[in-house]
Amino acid sequence: MPRVAVLRIGYRLVRDDRITTHIALVARAFGADCIYTVGGEEDLAETIRNVNKRWGGDFQVEFVDDWKKVVRQWKNSGGLVVHLTMYGLGMETVEEVQRGERNILVVVGAEKVPRELYSMADYNVAVSHQPHSEVSALAVFLDRYFKGEELKKNFRDAKMKITPSAKGKNVVEL
Ligand code: SAM
Repeated sequence: MPRVAVLRIGYRLVRDDRITTHIALVARAFGADCIYTVGGEEDLAETIRNVNKRWGGDFQVEFVDDWKKVVRQWKNSGGLVVHLTMYGLGMETVEEVQRGERNILVVVGAEKVPRELYSMADYNVAVSHQPHSEVSALAVFLDRYFKGEELKKNFRDAKMKITPSAKGKNVVEL
């Protein structure tokens, strides 16, 4: 599977810690390798460390000061940069997104995003042209990018595993 990172930026992240945690959890569960976040609390790293410990995998959290540097580095390394915004091209119309083959940095915003991001991204991409949320946009985008394959991902060294059941909860400790 291609390498996928998520970059979370925006002007009001300090007020958005819970959403940033949800974004990190969605990114991890839906196949991304890491999240870069501008702002956010050390709590986020601790939460994800605990999730990795129990449920496996090595999803990484990185706090960054300069989001432009992350975008530039990603582009210089040959990766694709896609900014999710309701104003962009429908994701179903962008061939490179449909192919889902390249390493990709997926950028999601908060209330507002810096204008420069629109020009720095290779594509501004919409997950429908209706306003919703960075959490839902990211989940749908990743699922389409990986064509559903991420749902079968094996999280290495998990201590807990769910045995799927139609009723009730069945969790096995490994
Ligand atoms: N006006 C914003 C926009 O550009 O999409 C909506 C702000 S929304 C509160 C916060 C974030 O959710 C946005 O920065 C974007 O990443 C994501 N988002 C919301 N609706 C979206 C959509 N339809 N398609 C893609 N991303 C969306």
